[in-house]
Amino acid sequence: MPHPAPLLRHYIGGEFVASEKTFANISPVDGRVLGHVCEADRGTVNRAVAAARAAQVGAWGRTSANERAEFLLRIASGIERRFEEFVAAEVADTGRSVKQARTLDVARGVQNFRTFAELIRQAGGEFYEMRAADGNDVFSYVVRKPHGVVAIVSPWNLPLLLLTWKVAPALACGNSIIAKPSEETPSSASLLAEVIDEAGLPAGAFNLVHGFGPDSAGEFLTRHAAVDAITFTGESRTGATIMRAAAEGVREVSFELGGKNAAVVFADADFDQAVAGVLRSSFTNSGQVCLCSERVYVERPIFERFVAALKAGAEKLKIGYPDEDGVDMGPLISRAHRDKVLGYFALARDEGATLVCGGGVPAFGDARDGGAYVQPTIWTGLGDDARCVREEVFGPVCHVSPFDADDEVVRRVNDSDYGLCAALWTRDLKRAHTLSRRLRVGMVWVNTWFLRDLRTPFGGVGLSGLGREGGRHSLDFYSELTTVCINP
Ligand code: NAD
Repeated sequence: MPHPAPLLRHYIGGEFVASEKTFANISPVDGRVLGHVCEADRGTVNRAVAAARAAQVGAWGRTSANERAEFLLRIASGIERRFEEFVAAEVADTGRSVKQARTLDVARGVQNFRTFAELIRQAGGEFYEMRAADGNDVFSYVVRKPHGVVAIVSPWNLPLLLLTWKVAPALACGNSIIAKPSEETPSSASLLAEVIDEAGLPAGAFNLVHGFGPDSAGEFLTRHAAVDAITFTGESRTGATIMRAAAEGVREVSFELGGKNAAVVFADADFDQAVAGVLRSSFTNSGQVCLCSERVYVERPIFERFVAALKAGAEKLKIGYPDEDGVDMGPLISRAHRDKVLGYFALARDEGATLVCGGGVPAFGDARDGGAYVQPTIWTGLGDDARCVREEVFGPVCHVSPFDADDEVVRRVNDSDYGLCAALWTRDLKRAHTLSRRLRVGMVWVNTWFLRDLRTPFGGVGLSGLGREGGRHSLDFYSELTTVCINP
């Protein structure tokens, strides 16, 4: 499998440019250095913003929605043409399975561009008629226009999927972009810049800068006065920092932030389906998905049986190399993140949790011992106030707790600073409808998890985010509306 380029550069104004300072890209599989990445300083970020601004008054600013849809389709085909290179890049940076990279990450990258190409073509306008006092029939219509320059700051957990989820609609609406991917996962973003370059997008429409957050590219970009709107996916705390930066100049923000999501399993659920569903929702991507369930509530009559079945399933998960057959779980993204997760393992012990399984680091006796692996971990026995039940761990971990009544479980699910999503496992459709309305979250799944029509709104409440993206909601965020009123 090909490896990402040894030196990843920025992409500014249609050119790949290096900067003097670089940082190492480390494999979470075995700790080896994969290559080096240029780190943008303030001057480099300034150049990227200037290039984006220039594109707005240049060729990109004059494109029609149809032309932009064509560009998006060309980018989708470009990713498909280099599909295996994208897979290799995602796998190298994250250590996830090749199978996941193929079926989820890169496939969704393609789909994001195709979806927004179609949506921008179909995006209709608004038109109103009214009779003025002088008897004239006055009409108003609404024009959709880009914000101008949009900053995209994205995380490491689903690098290509989450970056393209924002790049595609932002370009569809005619914005110029400066993307800043996570310092942990720079490779697929660099490939995307190559594909966009090959697709012939006008210079400055898409720019890429690499670097870190505080006092680095992320901060320089989000504090830049010439950035018109900021879209961010990442930790809630980082969102709050960016929001303070965006307050200067009253710039628009869209935030997809952390979660401490609940799965609720009722006694009437299809037992095996619910066990398989919670295994997926707790341990997919080693628990590093904002939508993962770290809190599991199980109706008391089936609690013991459910915990035993979940334990049996978790212990069967195969932890391994990305290209091994049947591998279910890869490493965490980095040693630093592993330290954080192991800190929660220790905290759970201190808080009095019962360890059902996991709780440590697997020993391989090979190069993977230099990586960032942890065992899938299940706890029971903690109170609702325990930090391990309230704070996002972002690892392969869940706490399972019994409940007795619908009202009780609604209260406990809602007793969270976060509010991204919830999953209900029940055969009782009436209960599913009623509870879905009462849960303080942006998305509810019933007898499934993660499945999404890309036209539906995506986002959370509370610390989980601000605004919604997805389908026309993305088009709304990435555009300004101007009302034109005509008295003929
Ligand atoms: P993070 O907040 O540490 O970093 C995200 C991005 O922000 C990175 O590119 C980083 O360099 C940049 N950044 C960090 N500090 C910054 C600053 N002060 N100014 C500007 N940019 C800054 O998040 P992470 O650790 O990369 O990602 C994991 C988090 O993302 C988890 O909390 C997870 O729940 C959340 N997440 C949410 C969603 C969602 O859709 N709600 C999706 C995926 C991940």
